Amino acid sequence: MKGSQYAVIGLGRFGSSVAKELIELGFEVLGIDRNEEIVDEMSNVLTHTVVADATDEEVLKSLGIRNFDCAVVAIGDDIQASIMAAILVKDLGVKNVVAKALSELHGKVLHKIGVDRIIYPERDMGIRVAHQLVSPNLLDYIELSKEYTIAELSVTGRISGMTLEQLDTRKKYGCSVVAINKRGGIVIAPTAEDTVDERDIMVVIGTNEQIEDFQQAVSG
Ligand code: ATP
Repeated sequence: MKGSQYAVIGLGRFGSSVAKELIELGFEVLGIDRNEEIVDEMSNVLTHTVVADATDEEVLKSLGIRNFDCAVVAIGDDIQASIMAAILVKDLGVKNVVAKALSELHGKVLHKIGVDRIIYPERDMGIRVAHQLVSPNLLDYIELSKEYTIAELSVTGRISGMTLEQLDTRKKYGCSVVAINKRGGIVIAPTAEDTVDERDIMVVIGTNEQIEDFQQAVSG
């Protein structure tokens, strides 16, 4: 078991998948839900589970919630309960509180009460899917800021076998290949002589525009 302990409040589709993945990653997870059936289902999967109303301060105190490194508030539909649970865990001293928001307004309120990270699962997944639909060789991306992104691009036949020197991404497009994921392992900080081959994945950093230009030039 690694050091950090997580509490996941609300074990619906979102909360339960966060909780299960944290367990897979080797962390201890306390799952809280007011629905007994849901808690029963998760009791064999998570480190601890409790049937409890997360808007009840005394309950959260008795669970020692302040000792957790991170709490994930994964209540959606009941916005009032989501906000109350978030305020309570923050007030009780949990340093890192992550909460799911159903709408921009819900997210704004969570931000105002000091939630450290707000997730909009449906909105964000919709945006990701749209990007991947229009750019089939874009596998994944992380927005570093409004302008800069790290993207994973699959190597197409058009550039297979080329060295980074031949690709010359920095001069031609302004973006840099910072890693190449090959089936045999990942090449971090590749040099000019390293090649990209079909089925490799390039990790590229640059502005959104630079990455899009590069991605379009190599696609097909
Ligand atoms: P998902 O899309 O993740 O399935 P959702 O957005 O539909 O979830 P809800 O179903 O409202 O959100 O909430 C997720 C879980 O949170 C449910 O299992 C529900 O029982 C639980 N929950 C709601 N309110 C509370 C509360 N006050 N205390 C504890 N658990 C709660």
